[in-house]
Amino acid sequence: MKEFLTEALVLDVEDSAEFDKFVILYTKELGKISARARGARKITSKLTGHLQPLDFTRVRLIEKNGFQIADALAFKKMERSPESLVAVKFIKEMTFDLQPDHDLWNILKKNKKISNKDLLSVLGFDPTFAECGVCNVKKPDFFSKTEQIFLCKRCASKAPKNEIVLI
Ligand SMILES: [Zn+2]
Repeated sequence: MKEFLTEALVLDVEDSAEFDKFVILYTKELGKISARARGARKITSKLTGHLQPLDFTRVRLIEKNGFQIADALAFKKMERSPESLVAVKFIKEMTFDLQPDHDLWNILKKNKKISNKDLLSVLGFDPTFAECGVCNVKKPDFFSKTEQIFLCKRCASKAPKNEIVLI
């Protein structure tokens, strides 16, 4: 059993067993992880209020058959906008478990809001001079998460909707 204390941004929360939740966190120390919050759905649970998407929280994690959240204390919030909510889902899809990226963490921590464009830049896909990866049109509007290429409107319309994001 190992214990970690780290700052984290809550990316997403999923229901699991009856009273538990799976919280997807982007942590400073460990990168992305999924952690179980036991009893987080009980109304009395003190954890719930500190584990909402877009919350920055200090978590105490216990690693034992996966991660468990032993404690959480929210200390800051990212501005709640549709754009930010889309962006945190995008982080969840674009990052791998247990691969901390300090550049990404610093961008997240520093900003009140975040866009897919900012995220792509820090992940190494700068959209400024990008072109469509299929037809080379300049200033593409979309990014394919599966192919990891930029796409223009026309080429994006041929890709499955859940595989592309607007930038
Ligand atoms: Zn194209």
